[in-house]
Amino acid sequence: MEPFKYLTAIDERSAHDSATESGARYLAGGTTLLDLMKLNVERPALLVDINKLPLARIEELADGTVRVGAMVRNSDMANHHVIRSRYPLLSRAILAGASPQLRNMATTGGNLLQRTRCYYFRDSSASCNKRNPGAGCAAVEGYNRIHAVLGTSEHCIATHPSDLSVALAALDAVVRLHGRSGERIVPFTDFHVTPGDHPERETVIEPGELITAVDIPPLPFATRSVYLKVRDRASYAFALASAAVALDVKAGAIRDARIALGGVATKPWRAREAERTLLGQRPDAAVYRAAADAALAGAVPRTHNAFKIDLAKRTLVRALTLVWAGAVQ
Ligand code: SF4
Repeated sequence: MEPFKYLTAIDERSAHDSATESGARYLAGGTTLLDLMKLNVERPALLVDINKLPLARIEELADGTVRVGAMVRNSDMANHHVIRSRYPLLSRAILAGASPQLRNMATTGGNLLQRTRCYYFRDSSASCNKRNPGAGCAAVEGYNRIHAVLGTSEHCIATHPSDLSVALAALDAVVRLHGRSGERIVPFTDFHVTPGDHPERETVIEPGELITAVDIPPLPFATRSVYLKVRDRASYAFALASAAVALDVKAGAIRDARIALGGVATKPWRAREAERTLLGQRPDAAVYRAAADAALAGAVPRTHNAFKIDLAKRTLVRALTLVWAGAVQ
Protein backbone atom coordinates (compact mmCIF):
# COMPACT_ATOMS: atom_id res chain seq x y z
CA MET A 1 0.00 0.00 0.00
CA GLU A 2 1.29 3.45 -0.86
CA PRO A 3 1.21 6.48 1.47
CA PHE A 4 -1.85 8.72 1.19
CA LYS A 5 -3.37 11.77 2.85
CA TYR A 6 -6.57 11.43 4.85
CA LEU A 7 -9.19 13.98 5.90
CA THR A 8 -12.70 13.90 7.26
CA ALA A 9 -15.39 15.88 5.43
CA ILE A 10 -17.70 17.78 7.78
CA ASP A 11 -20.26 18.78 5.13
CA GLU A 12 -20.97 18.18 1.45
CA ARG A 13 -19.25 21.36 0.35
CA SER A 14 -15.99 20.53 2.06
CA ALA A 15 -16.26 17.03 0.59
CA HIS A 16 -16.61 18.31 -3.00
CA ASP A 17 -13.86 20.88 -2.54
CA SER A 18 -11.41 18.27 -1.27
CA ALA A 19 -12.37 15.55 -3.70
CA THR A 20 -11.65 17.62 -6.79
CA GLU A 21 -7.93 17.34 -5.90
CA SER A 22 -6.09 15.06 -8.29
CA GLY A 23 -6.01 11.47 -7.02
CA ALA A 24 -8.69 12.01 -4.37
CA ARG A 25 -11.26 9.33 -3.53
CA TYR A 26 -14.23 9.30 -1.20
CA LEU A 27 -14.08 6.79 1.65
CA ALA A 28 -17.45 5.39 2.79
CA GLY A 29 -17.61 1.77 4.04
CA GLY A 30 -14.24 1.02 2.47
CA THR A 31 -15.16 -2.57 1.67
CA THR A 32 -13.92 -2.32 -1.92
CA LEU A 33 -11.53 0.61 -1.82
CA LEU A 34 -9.35 -0.52 1.09
CA ASP A 35 -9.08 -4.05 -0.34
CA LEU A 36 -7.89 -2.68 -3.66
CA MET A 37 -5.45 -0.30 -1.98
CA LYS A 38 -3.82 -3.26 -0.24
CA LEU A 39 -3.45 -4.91 -3.66
CA ASN A 40 -1.95 -1.71 -5.12
CA VAL A 41 -4.79 -1.62 -7.65
CA GLU A 42 -6.20 1.60 -6.18
CA ARG A 43 -3.58 4.20 -5.26
CA PRO A 44 -5.40 7.34 -4.10
CA ALA A 45 -3.31 10.33 -3.08
CA LEU A 46 -6.08 11.54 -0.74
CA LEU A 47 -8.96 9.79 1.04
CA VAL A 48 -11.91 12.05 1.86
CA ASP A 49 -13.84 10.27 4.63
CA ILE A 50 -17.58 10.97 4.25
CA ASN A 51 -18.79 8.91 7.19
CA LYS A 52 -19.76 12.02 9.17
CA LEU A 53 -22.10 13.37 6.44
CA PRO A 54 -25.82 13.14 7.32
CA LEU A 55 -26.71 10.78 4.47
CA ALA A 56 -27.83 7.68 6.38
CA ARG A 57 -31.63 8.01 6.30
CA ILE A 58 -34.35 6.10 4.48
CA GLU A 59 -37.45 8.25 4.02
CA GLU A 60 -40.77 8.05 2.18
CA LEU A 61 -41.57 11.18 0.18
CA ALA A 62 -45.07 12.57 -0.35
CA ASP A 63 -45.34 11.11 -3.87
CA GLY A 64 -44.49 7.61 -2.63
CA THR A 65 -40.83 7.69 -3.67
CA VAL A 66 -38.45 6.03 -1.21
CA ARG A 67 -35.23 8.00 -0.77
CA VAL A 68 -32.24 5.98 0.44
CA GLY A 69 -29.30 8.06 1.62
CA ALA A 70 -25.91 7.19 0.17
CA MET A 71 -24.49 6.28 3.60
CA VAL A 72 -27.29 3.86 4.52
CA ARG A 73 -25.55 0.57 5.28
CA ASN A 74 -26.55 -2.40 3.15
CA SER A 75 -27.84 -4.31 6.20
CA ASP A 76 -30.06 -1.42 7.25
CA MET A 77 -31.49 -1.08 3.75
CA ALA A 78 -32.15 -4.82 3.35
CA ASN A 79 -33.93 -5.02 6.70
CA HIS A 80 -35.90 -1.76 6.55
CA HIS A 81 -39.64 -2.45 6.77
CA VAL A 82 -40.47 -0.22 3.78
CA ILE A 83 -37.88 -1.90 1.55
CA ARG A 84 -38.91 -5.38 2.65
CA SER A 85 -42.61 -4.79 2.11
CA ARG A 86 -42.59 -2.65 -1.04
CA TYR A 87 -39.51 -3.95 -2.87
CA PRO A 88 -38.77 -7.52 -1.75
CA LEU A 89 -36.47 -8.10 -4.75
CA LEU A 90 -34.25 -5.29 -3.46
CA SER A 91 -34.01 -6.69 0.05
CA ARG A 92 -33.25 -10.15 -1.35
CA ALA A 93 -30.63 -8.83 -3.74
CA ILE A 94 -28.74 -7.15 -0.90
CA LEU A 95 -28.95 -10.20 1.35
CA ALA A 96 -27.64 -12.37 -1.51
CA GLY A 97 -24.42 -10.36 -1.57
CA ALA A 98 -21.25 -10.55 0.52
CA SER A 99 -21.33 -11.55 4.22
CA PRO A 100 -23.19 -10.04 7.22
CA GLN A 101 -20.00 -8.28 8.35
CA LEU A 102 -19.48 -6.69 4.94
CA ARG A 103 -23.14 -5.69 4.64
CA ASN A 104 -22.88 -3.97 8.03
CA MET A 105 -20.10 -1.75 6.66
CA ALA A 106 -20.92 -1.37 2.94
CA THR A 107 -22.99 1.65 1.95
CA THR A 108 -25.61 2.28 -0.72
CA GLY A 109 -23.44 4.74 -2.63
CA GLY A 110 -20.37 2.54 -2.35
CA ASN A 111 -22.24 -0.50 -3.60
CA LEU A 112 -23.03 1.30 -6.86
CA LEU A 113 -19.30 1.95 -7.30
CA GLN A 114 -18.04 -1.58 -6.61
CA ARG A 115 -15.17 -2.55 -8.88
CA THR A 116 -15.13 -5.72 -10.93
CA ARG A 117 -13.91 -9.08 -9.64
CA CYS A 118 -11.97 -9.75 -12.88
CA TYR A 119 -8.86 -11.65 -11.73
CA TYR A 120 -6.60 -9.65 -14.03
CA PHE A 121 -7.92 -6.32 -12.79
CA ARG A 122 -7.04 -7.31 -9.24
CA ASP A 123 -3.55 -8.52 -10.21
CA SER A 124 -1.40 -5.43 -10.69
CA SER A 125 1.10 -7.43 -12.79
CA ALA A 126 -1.49 -8.38 -15.47
CA SER A 127 -2.48 -6.37 -18.56
CA CYS A 128 -5.72 -4.53 -17.90
CA ASN A 129 -7.22 -1.60 -19.81
CA LYS A 130 -9.48 -0.72 -16.91
CA ARG A 131 -6.59 -0.33 -14.47
CA ASN A 132 -4.06 0.92 -16.98
CA PRO A 133 -5.68 2.36 -20.13
CA GLY A 134 -4.04 1.12 -23.34
CA ALA A 135 -2.30 -1.84 -21.64
CA GLY A 136 -4.51 -4.49 -23.26
CA CYS A 137 -6.98 -6.97 -21.78
CA ALA A 138 -5.59 -10.23 -20.44
CA ALA A 139 -9.09 -11.67 -20.04
CA VAL A 140 -10.11 -11.64 -23.70
CA GLU A 141 -7.65 -14.43 -24.54
CA GLY A 142 -7.18 -15.61 -20.96
CA TYR A 143 -9.31 -17.47 -18.42
CA ASN A 144 -12.67 -15.74 -18.75
CA ARG A 145 -15.15 -18.07 -17.06
CA ILE A 146 -16.59 -15.34 -14.79
CA HIS A 147 -16.64 -12.66 -17.46
CA ALA A 148 -19.48 -10.91 -19.27
CA VAL A 149 -21.39 -11.90 -22.39
CA LEU A 150 -23.47 -8.70 -22.67
CA GLY A 151 -22.26 -5.13 -23.10
CA THR A 152 -18.65 -6.14 -23.76
CA SER A 153 -16.06 -4.61 -26.08
CA GLU A 154 -12.74 -5.87 -27.42
CA HIS A 155 -11.12 -3.74 -24.69
CA CYS A 156 -12.92 -5.14 -21.63
CA ILE A 157 -15.27 -8.01 -20.79
CA ALA A 158 -15.46 -7.57 -17.01
CA THR A 159 -18.77 -8.14 -15.21
CA HIS A 160 -20.29 -5.60 -12.85
CA PRO A 161 -20.37 -7.28 -9.42
CA SER A 162 -23.22 -5.53 -7.56
CA ASP A 163 -26.45 -7.40 -6.75
CA LEU A 164 -28.09 -4.29 -5.30
CA SER A 165 -27.53 -2.41 -8.56
CA VAL A 166 -29.32 -5.08 -10.58
CA ALA A 167 -32.43 -4.67 -8.43
CA LEU A 168 -32.24 -0.86 -8.66
CA ALA A 169 -31.98 -1.08 -12.46
CA ALA A 170 -35.18 -3.14 -12.54
CA LEU A 171 -36.98 -0.64 -10.29
CA ASP A 172 -36.27 2.48 -12.40
CA ALA A 173 -34.40 4.11 -9.53
CA VAL A 174 -32.56 7.39 -9.99
CA VAL A 175 -29.20 8.47 -8.57
CA ARG A 176 -28.83 11.89 -6.94
CA LEU A 177 -25.38 13.46 -7.38
CA HIS A 178 -23.98 16.61 -5.77
CA GLY A 179 -21.03 18.49 -7.17
CA ARG A 180 -19.61 21.99 -6.96
CA SER A 181 -22.09 23.18 -9.59
CA GLY A 182 -25.11 21.80 -7.73
CA GLU A 183 -27.29 18.71 -7.88
CA ARG A 184 -28.13 16.51 -10.81
CA ILE A 185 -30.28 13.43 -11.15
CA VAL A 186 -29.35 10.46 -13.33
CA PRO A 187 -31.64 7.53 -14.22
CA PHE A 188 -30.12 4.40 -12.75
CA THR A 189 -29.87 2.66 -16.12
CA ASP A 190 -27.75 5.58 -17.40
CA PHE A 191 -25.52 5.78 -14.34
CA HIS A 192 -23.19 2.90 -15.28
CA VAL A 193 -21.67 2.81 -18.75
CA THR A 194 -20.47 -0.08 -20.93
CA PRO A 195 -16.69 -0.21 -21.48
CA GLY A 196 -16.51 0.61 -25.21
CA ASP A 197 -13.10 2.14 -25.91
CA HIS A 198 -12.72 3.41 -22.33
CA PRO A 199 -13.06 0.61 -19.77
CA GLU A 200 -11.50 2.88 -17.14
CA ARG A 201 -14.73 4.89 -17.09
CA GLU A 202 -17.48 2.94 -15.31
CA THR A 203 -20.08 5.59 -14.45
CA VAL A 204 -21.12 9.11 -15.45
CA ILE A 205 -19.83 10.62 -12.19
CA GLU A 206 -17.68 13.71 -12.73
CA PRO A 207 -14.58 14.45 -10.60
CA GLY A 208 -15.59 15.54 -7.11
CA GLU A 209 -19.25 14.57 -7.51
CA LEU A 210 -20.76 12.76 -4.57
CA ILE A 211 -23.65 10.29 -4.60
CA THR A 212 -26.05 11.62 -1.97
CA ALA A 213 -29.06 9.33 -2.40
CA VAL A 214 -30.92 6.83 -4.54
CA ASP A 215 -34.62 7.48 -5.18
CA ILE A 216 -36.87 4.48 -5.80
CA PRO A 217 -40.23 5.37 -7.36
CA PRO A 218 -43.46 3.67 -6.32
CA LEU A 219 -44.09 0.41 -8.18
CA PRO A 220 -47.10 -1.33 -6.60
CA PHE A 221 -46.59 -4.66 -8.38
CA ALA A 222 -43.03 -4.89 -7.04
CA THR A 223 -44.54 -6.31 -3.85
CA ARG A 224 -44.48 -9.54 -5.84
CA SER A 225 -40.94 -9.74 -7.09
CA VAL A 226 -37.83 -11.88 -6.76
CA TYR A 227 -34.08 -11.69 -7.02
CA LEU A 228 -32.57 -15.02 -8.00
CA LYS A 229 -28.81 -15.48 -7.90
CA VAL A 230 -26.84 -18.46 -9.21
CA ARG A 231 -23.24 -18.84 -8.01
CA ASP A 232 -20.51 -21.37 -7.46
CA ARG A 233 -21.29 -21.81 -3.75
CA ALA A 234 -24.33 -21.10 -1.61
CA SER A 235 -23.09 -17.91 0.06
CA TYR A 236 -20.37 -15.28 -0.06
CA ALA A 237 -19.86 -15.58 -3.81
CA PHE A 238 -20.49 -13.31 -6.77
CA ALA A 239 -23.19 -14.10 -9.31
CA LEU A 240 -22.53 -16.25 -12.35
CA ALA A 241 -26.02 -15.18 -13.37
CA SER A 242 -28.82 -13.40 -11.57
CA ALA A 243 -32.26 -12.03 -12.37
CA ALA A 244 -34.33 -9.30 -10.72
CA VAL A 245 -37.96 -9.69 -11.77
CA ALA A 246 -41.33 -8.09 -11.01
CA LEU A 247 -44.52 -9.01 -12.86
CA ASP A 248 -47.95 -7.40 -12.99
CA VAL A 249 -50.51 -10.04 -13.99
CA LYS A 250 -54.21 -9.25 -14.28
CA ALA A 251 -57.03 -11.34 -15.74
CA GLY A 252 -54.57 -14.00 -16.84
CA ALA A 253 -52.31 -11.68 -18.87
CA ILE A 254 -49.04 -9.90 -18.14
CA ARG A 255 -49.74 -6.15 -18.01
CA ASP A 256 -46.28 -4.96 -17.03
CA ALA A 257 -42.85 -6.40 -16.23
CA ARG A 258 -39.47 -5.35 -14.89
CA ILE A 259 -36.41 -7.48 -15.64
CA ALA A 260 -32.72 -6.87 -14.98
CA LEU A 261 -29.81 -9.30 -15.15
CA GLY A 262 -26.58 -9.56 -13.18
CA GLY A 263 -23.39 -11.61 -13.42
CA VAL A 264 -23.48 -11.66 -17.22
CA ALA A 265 -23.01 -8.04 -18.25
CA THR A 266 -20.54 -5.19 -17.94
CA LYS A 267 -23.16 -3.08 -16.13
CA PRO A 268 -26.41 -3.84 -14.30
CA TRP A 269 -28.40 -5.00 -17.32
CA ARG A 270 -31.98 -3.90 -17.85
CA ALA A 271 -33.59 -6.39 -20.25
CA ARG A 272 -36.19 -4.22 -21.96
CA GLU A 273 -36.60 -6.53 -24.98
CA ALA A 274 -37.46 -9.35 -22.63
CA GLU A 275 -40.03 -7.14 -20.89
CA ARG A 276 -41.66 -6.26 -24.21
CA THR A 277 -41.84 -9.95 -25.13
CA LEU A 278 -43.96 -10.63 -22.06
CA LEU A 279 -46.54 -7.87 -22.43
CA GLY A 280 -50.08 -9.10 -23.10
CA GLN A 281 -49.02 -12.77 -22.90
CA ARG A 282 -50.31 -15.46 -20.61
CA PRO A 283 -47.66 -16.31 -18.00
CA ASP A 284 -46.38 -19.75 -18.98
CA ALA A 285 -43.09 -21.53 -19.63
CA ALA A 286 -43.03 -20.93 -23.40
CA VAL A 287 -43.52 -17.18 -22.91
CA TYR A 288 -40.79 -17.08 -20.25
CA ARG A 289 -38.39 -18.90 -22.58
CA ALA A 290 -39.13 -16.41 -25.35
CA ALA A 291 -38.36 -13.56 -22.95
CA ALA A 292 -35.10 -15.24 -21.91
CA ASP A 293 -34.09 -15.70 -25.54
CA ALA A 294 -34.76 -11.99 -26.13
CA ALA A 295 -32.74 -11.00 -23.07
CA LEU A 296 -29.65 -12.90 -24.24
CA ALA A 297 -30.03 -12.31 -27.99
CA GLY A 298 -27.02 -9.99 -28.11
CA ALA A 299 -24.71 -12.18 -26.02
CA VAL A 300 -21.12 -12.66 -27.17
CA PRO A 301 -19.45 -15.72 -25.60
CA ARG A 302 -15.70 -16.13 -25.03
CA THR A 303 -13.61 -19.28 -24.64
CA HIS A 304 -14.71 -20.22 -21.12
CA ASN A 305 -17.99 -18.42 -20.47
CA ALA A 306 -20.43 -19.64 -23.15
CA PHE A 307 -22.23 -21.62 -20.43
CA LYS A 308 -23.43 -18.32 -18.98
CA ILE A 309 -25.83 -17.74 -21.85
CA ASP A 310 -27.87 -20.83 -21.10
CA LEU A 311 -27.44 -20.33 -17.35
CA ALA A 312 -28.79 -16.77 -17.53
CA LYS A 313 -31.77 -17.91 -19.60
CA ARG A 314 -32.60 -20.65 -17.12
CA THR A 315 -32.16 -18.23 -14.21
CA LEU A 316 -34.58 -15.77 -15.77
CA VAL A 317 -37.16 -18.46 -16.60
CA ARG A 318 -36.92 -19.72 -13.02
CA ALA A 319 -37.29 -16.21 -11.59
CA LEU A 320 -40.38 -15.54 -13.72
CA THR A 321 -41.84 -18.87 -12.66
CA LEU A 322 -41.27 -18.05 -8.99
CA VAL A 323 -42.90 -14.62 -9.29
CA TRP A 324 -45.97 -16.06 -10.93
CA ALA A 325 -46.15 -18.82 -8.35
CA GLY A 326 -46.18 -16.12 -5.67
CA ALA A 327 -48.81 -14.11 -7.52
CA VAL A 328 -51.33 -16.95 -7.47
CA GLN A 329 -50.97 -17.84 -3.78
FE1 SF4 B 1 -9.11 -5.43 -17.25
FE2 SF4 B 1 -11.59 -5.51 -18.17
FE3 SF4 B 1 -9.76 -6.98 -19.32
FE4 SF4 B 1 -10.52 -7.59 -16.84
S1 SF4 B 1 -11.79 -7.72 -18.64
S2 SF4 B 1 -8.41 -7.52 -17.64
S3 SF4 B 1 -10.98 -5.56 -16.04
S4 SF4 B 1 -9.79 -4.73 -19.25
